[in-house]
Amino acid sequence: MNKRVNILGLAFENTTLDGMTETIKQRIAANKKTFIVTANPEIVMYANEHADYMNTLKNADFIVPDGIGIVIGSKILKQPLEERVAGFDLMHNLLHVANEQSLRVFFLGAKEHVIPKTVQNISKAFPNLIVCGYHHGYFDWHDKSILTMVKEANPDLVFVALGYPKQEMWINDALPLFEKGIFMGVGGSFDVWAGEAKRAPELWRKLNLEWLYRFIKQPARWKRMLLLPRFLVKIIKEAKKSNCGNKKKHA
Ligand code: UDP
Repeated sequence: MNKRVNILGLAFENTTLDGMTETIKQRIAANKKTFIVTANPEIVMYANEHADYMNTLKNADFIVPDGIGIVIGSKILKQPLEERVAGFDLMHNLLHVANEQSLRVFFLGAKEHVIPKTVQNISKAFPNLIVCGYHHGYFDWHDKSILTMVKEANPDLVFVALGYPKQEMWINDALPLFEKGIFMGVGGSFDVWAGEAKRAPELWRKLNLEWLYRFIKQPARWKRMLLLPRFLVKIIKEAKKSNCGNKKKHA
């Protein structure tokens, strides 16, 4: 099994949700600063169209396939990834680890009225983890006091829910200032924890239709959804290219 699979320029971890959780657990034990990106096809396409964002993602320690589109893409490229690792599920597992080890967790992002509910519900579910701080995600990008606040909280884990590309850009800028910590962008997960948004029911998730559920619930996202077919077309072109390359090699 390849450890990493290249999908349109990004090296995805070929692992499972449990495998990834274990890897991060080891990084926590070793005090290793870690940048995790959970990327879906929208993110891959955005990175392919924005070089600065692509470079930011390349600084990540781990890129995990959050979205069935990425797994399908890996199959078309004939380098199948083990499974989808949903950002929400990985965050859930890491909260569990934080709870077991009474780790310090900072939550940055979501709307001002949402974040206290997120924190309250997470604290209820995981009473042993330490909420070392939280802040909403609508702050001035140039206001460095937020960064100072996170740093002074001395977190073991920092979950950043600013949506892409902001959350990864924020983490990338912040990282050099920290000595330790697991940093992960989690998109709309805080809204789900707060009860402001719903995850797709389990059956939809099992059928790999979470994207369709989100589309029905948030039709305003349709423009972003158009990136998915474009992603698949790009993947098919890429697969053809590497097929031709292989044929030439063997000719
Ligand atoms: N958000 C934020 N600050 C911003 C823009 C967005 O805190 O400047 C939050 C927003 O309230 C939501 C999350 O980021 O909680 C974005 O969720 P979305 O599902 O759009 O994530 P994406 O799919 O864009 O990564």
